[in-house]
Amino acid sequence: MTQTLHIYNTLTRRKEEFIPLQPPHVGLYVCGPTVYSDTHLGHSRPNITFDLLYRYLQHIGYKVRYVRNVTDVGHLENDADEGEDKIEKKAKLDELEPMEIVQFYLLRFHANMAMLNVLPPSIEPFASGHIIEQQLMIGKILDNGFAYVVNGSVYFDIEAYSKKHSYGKLSGRVVEELLNSTRELAGQSEKKNPNDFAIWKKAEPGHIMHWPSVWSEGFPGWHLECSAMSTKYLGEEFDIHGGGMDLLFPHHECEIAQSVAATGHEAVKYWMHNNMITINGQKMARSLGNYITLFDMFSGKNPLLEQAYSPMTVRFFILQAHYRGTMDFSNEALKAAEKGLERLLSGMKALDKIKPSEKSSFNVADFRNRCYNALNDDLNSPILLAELFEGVKLINSCVVEKEGLTASDIATMKEMYNAFVFEILGLKDEKNGNENTNLVAGLVDFLIDLRKKAKANKDFATSDQIRNHLADLGVEVKDTKDGMEWSLK
Ligand code: ZN
Repeated sequence: MTQTLHIYNTLTRRKEEFIPLQPPHVGLYVCGPTVYSDTHLGHSRPNITFDLLYRYLQHIGYKVRYVRNVTDVGHLENDADEGEDKIEKKAKLDELEPMEIVQFYLLRFHANMAMLNVLPPSIEPFASGHIIEQQLMIGKILDNGFAYVVNGSVYFDIEAYSKKHSYGKLSGRVVEELLNSTRELAGQSEKKNPNDFAIWKKAEPGHIMHWPSVWSEGFPGWHLECSAMSTKYLGEEFDIHGGGMDLLFPHHECEIAQSVAATGHEAVKYWMHNNMITINGQKMARSLGNYITLFDMFSGKNPLLEQAYSPMTVRFFILQAHYRGTMDFSNEALKAAEKGLERLLSGMKALDKIKPSEKSSFNVADFRNRCYNALNDDLNSPILLAELFEGVKLINSCVVEKEGLTASDIATMKEMYNAFVFEILGLKDEKNGNENTNLVAGLVDFLIDLRKKAKANKDFATSDQIRNHLADLGVEVKDTKDGMEWSLK
């Protein structure tokens, strides 16, 4: 690798040099959506953060297997062990099959991700498709003495686990405090200790999604799916596990405990967490009712929005902050992002207007290194953008010939800007990204011209062939008084 990436490991609480277990292969697991509602602006942050990581790792030469799960079962309201399944609740409300809810919102999630230019993961496994793997893991945890069965449900035993291992190491919670503060509540539930969490839940009457098991007809606990599916696709040990900071406790803390309880060792080498998006200082969340869906962001149809913001404006807005820093939603910040992106893209176009000089008045190799250094330092996208904007200033002063660049440095700058802006940051030129549309229009016009000539030569076979072939491709050709018109069906 020509670049050395350092990432902040939430587990060790420091920046570490990234050294994969089996270079050049990298295993990356990110907790995906619970698909029961539309994706909101807050959700776009983990997706864009780990898309940047995925893109950058590939850019510097790694082969990444990126697994992002779909939670379609077992995620109960308030992330708790009791209460309704989020997807089932929505299904009952809409009188639909739970899997209809999953399919509907998953397609909309994919559409949102495509709009944001978030690359699809290598594998997108469903929790409901891995019930057997989850049951096998429960069996191992029980065999090793870190879980117990009550009334058909299986609970992870925090007290037994804490005697041998350290529960709370990721989130920094002290287990004694957890045990003491909640002991008085004991007795109100079938758990030995309120901090114990369900890894298998017996289905209550009326619960729709359930599977047979040796313990009961039931369903897996939410935390278990990620442990089971990351093991299945990335192995018992893998490189990076990511997610939002809100998943640190209990979700990821429980994942660590489950892996250690099942296999005797931890699964993850580097834990990465992105910070939240706040709105008026409060976390943006569906449960708090202060969210804006991405579809609303793009259409502007939300009372919190003063205008519509394009997907690339949203992407640029997210990348302007370091992923571990806080960021607050405001119309002003988004409008500034819109202008910033415009300035960056027009700076890139201005590269074409520079007349090459004999000598360069600044060091392009140094500039390139500073850009890489920014990303190598824990994916510091705001520093990278600041560097790229410095570069835009230089480009503009080269256009008015206050500074100069040689032809080969101009070529390097073009290559660099394309790599950083489009390939790594994943931004697109939305206004001028219609090269394909122009190409299609040009080709159809050309074929129509050929058809006109064929008709004029009374070659009706060729004329019909062109019309029918275009019709098969969804292009309708109409003969008009003045010639021919075409439209997409
Ligand atoms: Zn997860």
